[in-house]
Amino acid sequence: MKNKNFLIYFTVAVVFCFTLFIIKYINDTRNDYQKISEKILFQQASTLFNNIVTIRKWSSDHGAIYVKAHEGIKPNPYLPDNHTYTKDDELLIKINPAWMTRQISEISNAKEKYYFKITSLNPINPKNIPDEFEKRALKHLQKNKNDLYYTSLGNEKYDFMGSLKIEPSCLNCHTNQNYVVGDVIGGLRVSIPIDHYKENVEIVDSKTNILYFVTFFTSIVFIVIITFTIHSIYTRELNIMKLNKTLENKVNQRTKELREANKKLLEISTTDYLTNLSNRRYFFEMGNKTFHLAKREKSKFSIICIDIDFFKHINDTYGHNIGDEVLKYIANKMSKSIRKSDIVARTGGEEFTILLNNTDENSAFILAEKLRTSVENSVYKTDDLMIQVTISLGISELRQEDEDLDSIISRADRALYIAKKDNRNRTVIYRF
Ligand code: GH3
Ligand code: MG
Ligand code: MG
Repeated sequence: MKNKNFLIYFTVAVVFCFTLFIIKYINDTRNDYQKISEKILFQQASTLFNNIVTIRKWSSDHGAIYVKAHEGIKPNPYLPDNHTYTKDDELLIKINPAWMTRQISEISNAKEKYYFKITSLNPINPKNIPDEFEKRALKHLQKNKNDLYYTSLGNEKYDFMGSLKIEPSCLNCHTNQNYVVGDVIGGLRVSIPIDHYKENVEIVDSKTNILYFVTFFTSIVFIVIITFTIHSIYTRELNIMKLNKTLENKVNQRTKELREANKKLLEISTTDYLTNLSNRRYFFEMGNKTFHLAKREKSKFSIICIDIDFFKHINDTYGHNIGDEVLKYIANKMSKSIRKSDIVARTGGEEFTILLNNTDENSAFILAEKLRTSVENSVYKTDDLMIQVTISLGISELRQEDEDLDSIISRADRALYIAKKDNRNRTVIYRF
């Protein structure tokens, strides 16, 4: 879960940084475009400025130009020698560079909204008095002699002021003003319309806004998809883990049940159903193991074969069910009288066999007698019955020459047979 949150935060951070980078890139591109557009305005204005300066220089180089008088033009009162006559007495009007510039400007302005003006902080003609922009520009150019122009981008137009330096030809008209060649005394202002520029910038702005929106929207969608995917993967993993845990618990439960069932099965397969003693199969399985171990380790063990005396008579007298109860009663006495390391089993109908570990025949005899007298001296009792039972016992111990367990059991059986012959209720050790 910790990893999941980290992964989500990490992805969001990466997408956020990427988005910022894209937005910055879009913004820079927009600003670059605006700068390029402004540069185009500047180039347009400076080209016009240079053209006018060239024309003005041409005019100035010739001192001035004279045009034939016609309607709409009168001699300029601010110019000395503002007119002359041809030998045919035709009036020629003098046009100096400043006036020429103003006339071109008027034509341009009327036609294409371009505007030119020669201006100075100290003009001869009041029409050339600078406006606010021109004053600001001229003061700047006078102060910063290395700057060749001053520009300003307004709401309606782009204003450009190029500095004009005093050239020798200028002194023709400006002799009274104490100008020195090379001085910056005025400038040529060029204004150009910015309709196209504004239109282009607006288009770029709207496209930039669309790009901003697309970038934001894509980032948000990307974050949502990534978060959802991570969440789904982790939820699925969590479910698989839960399922595994449930499955593991079920397997453990089943294994436990199986183990208990196996234990029960083993118990059933090795236990006598009636007396709860070991059964014949278990006795021989364990007996054979004990035989081989004792042979290898040269240790002792003894076998006692036991048979209930006249049991058929008990069955016949009290019934088979009571016979079963008597069998349980005798079995209980036997299991109480042996050690945990010994084995007592019901090996036949009313026959039992005991295996005594590390016990010779004499010690086995003592235990057998204890058992026999205990049975002899007690009675099987019910509410309305008292049955006296006796048992006969035959004993044999492991001998060196024995090859298998059956040899010892067979000797114990023969001893039991002798006990039966000898009036029963006896314990006999096989001595032959
Ligand atoms: P003996 O003293 O010579 O041993 O006499 P006996 O009557 O005990 O010997 P016999 O072999 O003739 O009889 C054994 C009887 O044990 C026969 C059989 O009906 C009975 N019996 C065997 N198994 C069971 C059992 O599980 N329950 C009951 N109630 N009787 C059994
Ligand atoms: Mg018998
Ligand atoms: Mg018997």
